[in-house]
Amino acid sequence: MATVTAVPAMKFPGGSFLIEERTPEDIFTPEDFTEQHLLIAQTAEEFALKEIVPNIEKMEHKDFAVTRELVRRAGELGLSGVDVPEQYGGMQMDKVTSAIIADRLAKYGGFSTTWGAHTCIGALPIVYFGTEEQKKKYLPGLATGQKVGAYALSESSSGSDALNCRTQAKLSTDGKHYLLNGEKMWITNAGFADVFTIFAKVDGEKFTAFLVERGFPGFSVGAEEHKMGIRGSSTCPLILNDCQVPVGNVLGEIGKGHHIAFNVLNVGRFKLGAACVGSARNCIETAIAYAKQRKAFGKVIADFGLIREKLANMAVGIFTGEAMAYRTVGMMDEVIAQLGSEHEDMKAVRKVIDEYAVECSILKVWGSEFIGTVVDEMVQIHGGYGFVEEYPAELSYRDSRINRIFEGTNEINRLIITGFLLKRAMSGQLPLMAAIKKLMDEVLSGTSEEVEDGPLATERKLVATAKKIGLFAAGVATQKYMQAIQDQQELMGAIADMTIETYAMESAVLRAQKLAARNGEAGSRHAIAMTRVYMTGALERIESAAKMVVAACSDGDMLRSQLAILRRLCKYEPFDTVALRQQIAQRVIETGKYVVA
Ligand SMILES: Cc1cc2nc3c(=O)[nH]c(=O)nc-3n(C[C@H](O)[C@H](O)[C@H](O)COP(=O)(O)OP(=O)(O)OC[C@H]3O[C@@H](n4cnc5c(N)ncnc54)[C@H](O)[C@@H]3O)c2cc1C
Repeated sequence: MATVTAVPAMKFPGGSFLIEERTPEDIFTPEDFTEQHLLIAQTAEEFALKEIVPNIEKMEHKDFAVTRELVRRAGELGLSGVDVPEQYGGMQMDKVTSAIIADRLAKYGGFSTTWGAHTCIGALPIVYFGTEEQKKKYLPGLATGQKVGAYALSESSSGSDALNCRTQAKLSTDGKHYLLNGEKMWITNAGFADVFTIFAKVDGEKFTAFLVERGFPGFSVGAEEHKMGIRGSSTCPLILNDCQVPVGNVLGEIGKGHHIAFNVLNVGRFKLGAACVGSARNCIETAIAYAKQRKAFGKVIADFGLIREKLANMAVGIFTGEAMAYRTVGMMDEVIAQLGSEHEDMKAVRKVIDEYAVECSILKVWGSEFIGTVVDEMVQIHGGYGFVEEYPAELSYRDSRINRIFEGTNEINRLIITGFLLKRAMSGQLPLMAAIKKLMDEVLSGTSEEVEDGPLATERKLVATAKKIGLFAAGVATQKYMQAIQDQQELMGAIADMTIETYAMESAVLRAQKLAARNGEAGSRHAIAMTRVYMTGALERIESAAKMVVAACSDGDMLRSQLAILRRLCKYEPFDTVALRQQIAQRVIETGKYVVA
């Protein structure tokens, strides 16, 4: 029998970055990739370039035989079983590897979606919640890509509000089967998947997950949706008409389906964040190549400041996104590594991933919104050619839009970020309230804790400033509304935005610091430039969100004194982002791609 391993104490509890200082040694960055990480990155990259990209046209026209073959090839190359334990045919590698593969495969949204759904929400419910028998039966096929997985939570009347589903399950009179009745909607891979995790309410009440095979009596798949993007993926409804599911195919416990539904989404979210960064790396290459050859007014457009600014912004975001993504999975791996070989029952791994739910949601929101700006600017750089199908900008533009909708919409993820932090604060798990009180006292007494001098001292001070502004605004909002802040969605959203930006800018600064320690400040000038550009924008966004929160919570003299405090906190000299962007643009244009050094 598998043993349940206790989760070791978290060195960096989820969300604690808001109230604690971090050093560069505390975070994992792409510069820390091992030989093995680099090798798998290369394998994934080559597979994407040599096998996925040449088949885009076929997949866009829904030639799913090609898609299935590519899923099988990915499995053969060991790219699909990284999260599956070895005894069930997988590779059981670290989460950094999971993120690297998602990142490097992201050269075509249609296939990324298929592969992401298959390896993540398709297989992980069984990895984390399956019985020994279920794992033995289903995981080897899924890990090798012989079988394809899917996950069916959403319904036409309940997507975000998934627990409110209408699909019902009833035990058959002979007690051998559950009979499922209802319809699921927008199910990725439905057109060709073999195994589905389907959520239904037993006796109309107990939300439960079931493993359903394509051939089970009463199971059928509806017509393909006609979508704006990711047309190379399959999205169909499922129709369950007295669908007979053996009782042995109940996944997890009856009435506990919500644990399954939400846990695997965390993995989906960090992988989606990594994939968005990977996709941006491709977009910048396409955009640079076009900008270097397209002429206007007797010059190549790559010489124009307003085009260079766009290219620089893409590079800045990629640097920051990589820093956030690999920092997050690095934290998970550090704890998971301490579990040793005892973690067969996967409960402990699940708990570690759950711990970083807030960071996973941050990656999802930030990554999906970043790629949205990248594809938009890529279309703009292409001018009229950006708007026509022959050029790749149009496809990337359409494909990227879904990222803000699935794996929990960005609105829902913003509510998760603030909700999670507040819940932890209220329960005492995260001493957020104490940190807010300390800051308020500090602000009122006019004292402040100094950041030590040393490399990137200005940048580190600005990270500390960002944390203070966020805490101050959150303090004002929680003082006014207490628990009822949950109903103030705009404030919850603004607090989430400040949290996201703080995590992003701190990740970029720590990465630049790490690079500066290794290569010297001069040798890291591009990384430092990218960090400075990112943090300038982030601070403006944090300040603006904080003002909105304060203005919504106070008025009169109180508002005036709170705004004065904010002004004091926000007193800093801006970097010369025009010169910095020129420097960054020059470097990426010269090399034809995103580079750190
Ligand atoms: C291409 C594609 C593939 C998909 N793949 C899958 C899949 O494989 N499996 C699966 O189960 N589902 C899948 N989905 C469904 C997807 O997860 C849902 O569409 C998504 O969760 C949103 O649900 P909804 O469409 O019902 O929108 P709604 O929940 O109706 O939301 C509509 C709008 O209201 C907002 N909103 C909703 N509730 C709140 C709230 N409490 N506060 C503030 N704003 C709110 C939303 O953010 C959104 O902007 C897929 C969808 C698409 C389009």
